[in-house]
Amino acid sequence: MNIDIIIFTAHPDDAEISIGGTIAKLAKHNRTVGIIDLTKGELGTRGSAETREMEAESASKILGIAIRDNLNIPDGKVKPSQEYIEKVIVQIRKYKPQIIFAPYFNDRHPDHIGAGQIVKEAMFLSGLPKIVTTENGTVQDSYRPKKLFYFMMTYEFEPTFIVDISNTLTTKIDAIKAFKTQFYDPNSNAPETFISKPDFIRNIEARAKFYGFQIRKEFGEPFYSEEKIEMNFDWMLDGM
Ligand SMILES: [Zn+2]
Repeated sequence: MNIDIIIFTAHPDDAEISIGGTIAKLAKHNRTVGIIDLTKGELGTRGSAETREMEAESASKILGIAIRDNLNIPDGKVKPSQEYIEKVIVQIRKYKPQIIFAPYFNDRHPDHIGAGQIVKEAMFLSGLPKIVTTENGTVQDSYRPKKLFYFMMTYEFEPTFIVDISNTLTTKIDAIKAFKTQFYDPNSNAPETFISKPDFIRNIEARAKFYGFQIRKEFGEPFYSEEKIEMNFDWMLDGM
């Protein structure tokens, strides 16, 4: 099965926080979207790998995505290595996405930095026929996605483009809240973390507002591209 767009993340819930509005928008427009989490997030202070797996499943349903996989890389150890890069290449060749997304390569969490680096290397190497990978014993064809875009985790960057998520911000927040153990819950006795304070969700909304305003829309999500983006004037050159 081919998947149009794949989001690679370090931890379950990273995609919902950073690119949930864009995912819901693409899925609503009948594009197939997949999320591939590199780790199960087992080092998280609150909840466990098992609860997060269940939470990821309900968040996936809310976003309307086609697949969600996990590469079982140990949490806290997401750094470029031949083994991990190969794991990502196998997924790219399996699903043949046109666009892939990864965490921006500078961040507060070292796993986010590592995931961005792994995906960038895998994207390039996946296109080389002499890099041989197999899936279920079958040698895979080489394949390179057309675009790699980075999404914003904690640290900000000057965006290359912003996606209008005015119609899907509520879906994004619902998907984030599906990770019940990770975010603010007035009835929870679990230790408070950076993301479990009630402020965290408000910050997500404020950031969406901030970037939305820059494109004169209500809410937006920012992205970064290392390569230049072509402007083809499609929106004003109908039929040309
Ligand atoms: Zn994360």
